[in-house]
Amino acid sequence: MHRFLDRELDREASLRVEAHLSACNSCRQEFYQLLDLEDQLESTPLPRISAGFAGRVIEQALRTREPAMTLPMRSFPTAVAACAIVIVTWVGFHIGEAYSTARRADIIQSALSSPIEPGS
Ligand SMILES: [Zn+2]
Repeated sequence: MHRFLDRELDREASLRVEAHLSACNSCRQEFYQLLDLEDQLESTPLPRISAGFAGRVIEQALRTREPAMTLPMRSFPTAVAACAIVIVTWVGFHIGEAYSTARRADIIQSALSSPIEPGS
């Protein structure tokens, strides 16, 4: 059915599906639901990025990176720098996430290995 909707079936298979759809009520209903869904997906606008998004990303990246890392970036053409910063931020976010997970594991480990001191 999906391949029929996407017009991926050859002529013979398409005719078989069409013949079945004209005879089978439940498949015909499903077919129209899929057509509707396809229409909705095609008419849904892509989410718009709010004004100043790139600026906020760059500002955030500059705030969170070490100055030594950001200084050479300023000499790149703006578009390249923006792309690089977005990538660096994304990678940095994941490294930070891994780091904080590791730290949490350390904290839990040390909490488990040290005896609990009552009243502290
Ligand atoms: Zn059917």
